[in-house]
Amino acid sequence: MTSTAARARVLLSSPDVGVREEEMVVAAVRSGWIAPLGPMVDEFEKQIAERCGRAHAVALSSGTAALHLGLLELGARAGTAVIVPTLTFAATANAVVYTGATPVFVDCDASTGNLDPALLEQALAELATDGVPVAAVVPVDLLGRSADYSALLPICERFGVPVLADAAESLGSFHHGAPAGSFGRIAALSFNGNKVMTTSGGGMLLTDDAHTAQRVRHLSTQARQPAVHYEHTEIGYNYRLSNVLAALGLAQAERLDGMIGRRREMREMYARLANDQPGVEVFQRHGDAADNCWLTAFVVEPQVTGWTTDDLRAALDAAGIESRPLWKPMHQQPVFRGGHRAFLSGAADELFVRGLTLPSGSALDADDRSHVENAVRSFFAERGR
Ligand SMILES: *Cc1c(COP(=O)(O)O)cnc(C)c1O
Repeated sequence: MTSTAARARVLLSSPDVGVREEEMVVAAVRSGWIAPLGPMVDEFEKQIAERCGRAHAVALSSGTAALHLGLLELGARAGTAVIVPTLTFAATANAVVYTGATPVFVDCDASTGNLDPALLEQALAELATDGVPVAAVVPVDLLGRSADYSALLPICERFGVPVLADAAESLGSFHHGAPAGSFGRIAALSFNGNKVMTTSGGGMLLTDDAHTAQRVRHLSTQARQPAVHYEHTEIGYNYRLSNVLAALGLAQAERLDGMIGRRREMREMYARLANDQPGVEVFQRHGDAADNCWLTAFVVEPQVTGWTTDDLRAALDAAGIESRPLWKPMHQQPVFRGGHRAFLSGAADELFVRGLTLPSGSALDADDRSHVENAVRSFFAERGR
């Protein structure tokens, strides 16, 4: 058997866990704190709050749960609208639907893929004119690049609409010197298995408001009232993070800077490969010094290259390498078609067709990396102009 045949498929972003994670999980199990909540959850919240410059953090079972409870606290419910970028992972829009509110989709800036401030302003103005109450704006830090909060926050403030930042992809990134997760009234993080750090599955809600944090803790633990029996005055959720998973998170947090460094090395490798390829650019490359480089993508101009992202995807697939188009915009998703307002420029549609995300994970070893590098290089050599 050749080494190529024996090679495991190279994935976009697989969990990066090792001895330290094993030690911490074993320590959690031996401590007897197996149920949700426990000392490692408290410590994990403290560390992440500190890293993100927030007063409060609530560890939850997923990033989606953080979005859901954050939206509820901002008053999202039937009869209200919530603005989300059309270029995002479905979880952002799904969480809006859970609350009964209606997602309104807004297009992105073509160079960053993040919420377009001018279009956001137009959307807020039109919704205000039509008398539609907007519960929140949910900017997404796409692929780890912080949304343009310096432009977005003043607009939202002018319309009196709170911001819930979907920072699921951007832990460890900065915007104008401030950490991802520090923007907006509330921010949501994800520790899903494919993110920069993982708790297997998990998430966190960040805020500076003590009341919001206390409310979210309450809602996430079935909204139990303080009574000897089970007493409930509102609908609660089972969204708390387990102490065993927080142990995994603590080990990952120790290693986070190193893992982000390895993602950046992948970014640099792709930038070198694209450098002499007309019509191929690394997405978000301009000004990426403070990004966590969660995923690196090529953006391809087929009129220049003579090949499409699909051609490259097929070639990589044949070499056992996963790649995937950028997020399919929400306004194009069958589940959200019809009845959903959208403010579009065509930028997200274009990025969906022309963007291809590439293996970017910190768990890739030297052998995986050179396999990917060689596969891309030989595709360029064969098909390049
Ligand atoms: C991963 C992700 C989420 C959801 O996080 P989970 O922890 O998987 O629930 C939400 N929004 C964006 C932009 C994401 O990438």
